[in-house]
Amino acid sequence: MGNTIHRDVIVIGGGIIGAAIAYYGSKAGLDITVLEKSELASGTSSRCDGNILAIDKDPGFDSQMSLKSQQLVHELSKELEIPFEYRNPGSILVCENEEEMEAANKWVQQQVSAGLDFKMLDREDLRNESKYFADDLYGGLECKTDSTVNPYMLTFSMFYSAEKLGATIQTKTEVTNLQKESTGQFRIETTRGTFTAKKVVNAAGIWAPFIGEMVGVKVPIAPRKGQIIVASRQQPVGLRKVMEFGYLISKFGGNRIVDELTEKYGVALVFEPTESQNFLIGSSRQFSGYDTKVNWDVTKYIAKRATRFYPKIADMTVIRTYAGLRPWTEDHLPIISHVEEVPNFYIAAGHEGDGISLAAITGKVIQEMLSNERTSIPTEPLRYDRFKERVVL
Ligand SMILES: Cc1cc2nc3c(=O)[nH]c(=O)nc-3n(C[C@H](O)[C@H](O)[C@H](O)COP(=O)(O)OP(=O)(O)OC[C@H]3O[C@@H](n4cnc5c(N)ncnc54)[C@H](O)[C@@H]3O)c2cc1C
Repeated sequence: MGNTIHRDVIVIGGGIIGAAIAYYGSKAGLDITVLEKSELASGTSSRCDGNILAIDKDPGFDSQMSLKSQQLVHELSKELEIPFEYRNPGSILVCENEEEMEAANKWVQQQVSAGLDFKMLDREDLRNESKYFADDLYGGLECKTDSTVNPYMLTFSMFYSAEKLGATIQTKTEVTNLQKESTGQFRIETTRGTFTAKKVVNAAGIWAPFIGEMVGVKVPIAPRKGQIIVASRQQPVGLRKVMEFGYLISKFGGNRIVDELTEKYGVALVFEPTESQNFLIGSSRQFSGYDTKVNWDVTKYIAKRATRFYPKIADMTVIRTYAGLRPWTEDHLPIISHVEEVPNFYIAAGHEGDGISLAAITGKVIQEMLSNERTSIPTEPLRYDRFKERVVL
């Protein structure tokens, strides 16, 4: 066996999901080791926005799970040692025509009956929200519980506390092979030596399918690209997160009244002021493989869309742009699950555009599964085998 190192639980992936598992796992007394091929938060978790949202979640299970995660992040803001730019101002969706207002009204009613803090906003409310909004907007809706973090800092902060609680975190360690041995334990080969472990959690985001393949498990996740423009905030355009109602259509699929390229690139307004007084303008949704290069045509359409809602933004300075890859699943829910065919193998991936929002609840639920405890939320809709009989992509 040579220098093989044995661990109880190995988590593959040092993004925000791996961080949350490491934190909640080590807090519960589990022996957790995280293996990350590059640096912490070097994947999607540092190429995104930082919204912890319920406003854009399907009413019902999805929004309830998000609400639970929001509560956990609120607790994390008090219990973690390193601050992560947590703010809790709520967020809004704006509507540009009568049809969207009608759909928004239904959305609000569904969310309210599911117990969430939503309400409709009229033209006057929008004017009071920001004088930078276009005059012809009809109104919108508000979710009071929504919050914002710096995703990189939250990842780093959870890893920092996890290490203090006894977790081992190893960067620049790529998992190259994973096998189940006849003893029932896993053998994990990496670029920095071989490990054995009782349990393995696949938290490798868009790379989760490659880890799955190593043990013969098909993980139906695909990269869905998104781009962001970072602008310098010369003027106080807005104090909280704003999205257009069409973002929901862009996320879940449906017909929008926009030009061909805005539709093709899946561009819908997302505006997020950061703590450092800049703002992030997004975003797009495209399936274009693992390429993270910024496409300038897409950037142009994102900027164009932003000026439709905030005409004066056209005069403001852009600092930089970037692209990230969302770990997409067909039904827009993550896979947070034990894999029956490979006992003691777990998947915590596929959070698409919601991994920052859902990291805390994911970490908590995986800890509960690893400790054989009752889970904080029902996990049936998150099971790996829900995709089994279906063709993905
Ligand atoms: C433009 C954009 C905006 C977004 N905005 C939001 C938002 O506002 N709110 C929100 O909730 N979500 C948002 N998201 C989604 C969110 O960023 C992701 O869901 C989340 O970051 C996924 O985290 P992860 O830990 O699963 O993946 P990652 O952060 O990608 O982590 C996976 C890690 O696994 C490592 N890895 C892969 N293979 C191996 C291997 N063989 N060995 C060892 N390590 C390996 C990788 O290096 C990587 O660090 C956005 C995404 C994008 C692209």
